[in-house]
Amino acid sequence: MAAEVQPRPQARKPGLLSKIEAFQEVVSAAVIIPKEDGVISVSEDRTIRVWLKRDSGQYWPSVYHTLPSKYSCSLPSKTYFIEHFCPLPVFQEFLLSEDYNKMTPTSTFQAHQGRVSVVLFVLEMEWLLSTGQDKNFNWLCSESGQQLGTYRTAAWVSGLQFDVETRHAFVGDQSGQVTILKLEQESCSLVTTFKGHTGNVTALCWDPVQRVLFSGSSDHSIIMWDIGGRKGTAIELQGHNDKVQGLCYASHTRQLISCSSDGGIVIWNMDVTRQETPEWLDSDSCQKCEQPFFWNFKQMWDSKKIGLRQHHCRKCGQAVCGKCSSRRSTIPLMGFEFEVRVCDSCHESISDEDRAPTVTFHDSKHSVVYMHYEPTTGNLLTSGADKVIKVCGVI
Ligand SMILES: [Zn+2]
Ligand SMILES: [Zn+2]
Repeated sequence: MAAEVQPRPQARKPGLLSKIEAFQEVVSAAVIIPKEDGVISVSEDRTIRVWLKRDSGQYWPSVYHTLPSKYSCSLPSKTYFIEHFCPLPVFQEFLLSEDYNKMTPTSTFQAHQGRVSVVLFVLEMEWLLSTGQDKNFNWLCSESGQQLGTYRTAAWVSGLQFDVETRHAFVGDQSGQVTILKLEQESCSLVTTFKGHTGNVTALCWDPVQRVLFSGSSDHSIIMWDIGGRKGTAIELQGHNDKVQGLCYASHTRQLISCSSDGGIVIWNMDVTRQETPEWLDSDSCQKCEQPFFWNFKQMWDSKKIGLRQHHCRKCGQAVCGKCSSRRSTIPLMGFEFEVRVCDSCHESISDEDRAPTVTFHDSKHSVVYMHYEPTTGNLLTSGADKVIKVCGVI
């Protein structure tokens, strides 16, 4: 098939649509209500609030509920789950009335002996997946509240995703590892683990169509794990200068949205063929000019030359000296949206077309603690350390 140049989908420049500034404390989780101009927020002031957009364009509170004790995390969905302490952590399910003017606590479940880190509600299975400080990953029946199974994780879990079709759970933890588990009704088996980050996994995002998992980390990077391809391909995405805080995928436009704690929002075009970064090669001397590196005393002595510092070309992976890698370039298809070190010959080989960015960079102008993308409206919600929620039109 002849190669055809496809126009890259253009992201709409994120335009700020609304702000909600009424909070005493940081909003640790919030969602846009699908198909409604509404937002549900959970704030550290212990309130769950529903906001509806009025004709003026402003969000006004519709209903709120104050929790009896400090909560730690939440996951809204068809109904609405929240976890709080009384004295052990419990999950509280709320039912919202159709007009969003009434919020009724319904079921209460208990699943952990310590603080809960992530909750995921799987409507199709009627499962509630959760992880906690007790290092247990549990799944419960959301109808009966009965615990179905448990798995002991290696570290505190900070990211959780689930594939309904194959019943695989993806569990990202503070050691930087992602564990894949196959869940049965009452048992689970370990499929594999992925190790790629040098920092904590802070966010996971699963695209069930392309069968790709994205993991974001405190090491500023995102890794795209090609699960469906079964070749173990892992592609790095380097576009943040701070901890990655959230990941969302817009499957209809094949765009990944990522945010970091410095307020940066990056919209990645994933409708391009990306390449894996090369392994770094080992050498005692520069693989271009053959000058010895500084630990190669024998060659230094023999050639009476002072050793050089070793660097690596990000494109070919060769070990090179500073003189042979004096140029910098972006390599967007390898995930390097910022300039990185390349050897002189690779620099020659990178065309202007190769340097065309595959991302757009945006500034949310607040330190993002939580992000939510709503595909039906194409709107993105960010909650910041400044106690403000912003809703932007993105895609
Ligand atoms: Zn050299
Ligand atoms: Zn090179």
